[in-house]
Amino acid sequence: MNYKQEEQGLYLLANKNFINWMDVHTYCHSCLEKLTFDDEFDASYCSSCNEWREEKCSDITCEYCDKRPKRPLDPRR
Ligand SMILES: [Zn+2]
Ligand SMILES: [Zn+2]
Repeated sequence: MNYKQEEQGLYLLANKNFINWMDVHTYCHSCLEKLTFDDEFDASYCSSCNEWREEKCSDITCEYCDKRPKRPLDPRR
């Protein structure tokens, strides 16, 4: 990982873009694409990895997480 210290704060160099350290959680840790937020399942995912970037919650009776497909871009029920 390459870091750049700027006057405005710490930036992460990713795909030739500088990501503000404060926004780094909105990017995929694997491919560094910007994450997409899924309103239906209330979770963010990476469309290029086709993987959720938020864990399911600990509530086993939770309807959202129960219906959540294994991969975000798989066909929805
Ligand atoms: Zn990714
Ligand atoms: Zn849940």
